[in-house]
Amino acid sequence: MEYTTLNNGIKMPKLGFGVYQVADQKECEQSVLCALNAGYRLLDTSAAYFNEEAVGNAIKKSNIAREDLFITTKLWIQDANYEKAKKAFENSLKKLQLDYLDLYLIHQPFGDYYGAWRMMTELYKEGRIRAIGVSNFGSDRLVDLILNNEVIPAVNQIEYHPYFQQKDAIKVMKEENVQPEAWSPLGHGGQVLKNPILAEISEKYHKSIAQVILRWNLQNNVITIPKSVHQERIESNFDIFDFVLSKNEMEIISTLDRNEYIADLHDVNLVKQLNGLKVR
Ligand code: NDP
Repeated sequence: MEYTTLNNGIKMPKLGFGVYQVADQKECEQSVLCALNAGYRLLDTSAAYFNEEAVGNAIKKSNIAREDLFITTKLWIQDANYEKAKKAFENSLKKLQLDYLDLYLIHQPFGDYYGAWRMMTELYKEGRIRAIGVSNFGSDRLVDLILNNEVIPAVNQIEYHPYFQQKDAIKVMKEENVQPEAWSPLGHGGQVLKNPILAEISEKYHKSIAQVILRWNLQNNVITIPKSVHQERIESNFDIFDFVLSKNEMEIISTLDRNEYIADLHDVNLVKQLNGLKVR
């Protein structure tokens, strides 16, 4: 496993396992167990994925030492304020059957996230969370949060795949010492997995397109958390440490950007829809 060091000095695996839309509890538990058996140690869930209990059950059954795991969950919009964030944190911890979190993220830049950040800062200072961060924060909101708070987000988890590379946002994160983390690194299983240029590169290394994309993430120092419910894919997505893309191949992949995103967080209807989702 390769690790990166976050801005507060803690080490985070660069490859992890995501469980968005794995709502079936049995399937989620089995997938997470399969991922842990394959060697993943970073798990990414959220209160809004409705599967923290299943993730917790898999962690427990795996018998892997707690300090070897890196567990991320996220605070949903309805709980994004100073008072509610504490209760939401305790709820998530209870469901995950843990007594501390490695990383707690504000899931969306909506609601009273400044209040939530103050509470998360307190929990961080009490040692109940090893690092705190954000998700889906555009550069403007990210920099404003940094300028107005004592603790800087360790991570910003954003949509990132070859068709949506967010180069300006990544540049700002690097300048501000905030670690980028990719959500939907495989484009949510979409057309990018059929790209002919990626296919050509993947053939050269006898790898899949998914493996090439994940390797491109690592080499760009972007943490990546692919999801799958299939053992073969879970294992192959982890098998990316035995080849290195050349500088030229990295540059070729960087030209595939189409500004083609999955979620438009500036779309008013999506903002309304996300605000309407209740996690309890
Ligand atoms: P991914 O980009 O990881 O793609 C997952 C899809 O690709 C699934 O349909 C999966 O199918 C398929 N797939 C996985 N591996 C392969 C492979 N090797 N070959 C072909 N197809 C494959 O999508 P996600 O949207 O799940 O993103 C990953 C994680 O990022 C999430 O699980 C979540 O943890 C996080 N996330 C965070 C968000 C945020 O707002 N912060 C938003 C979205 C995601 P199958 O399962 O059938 O194998």
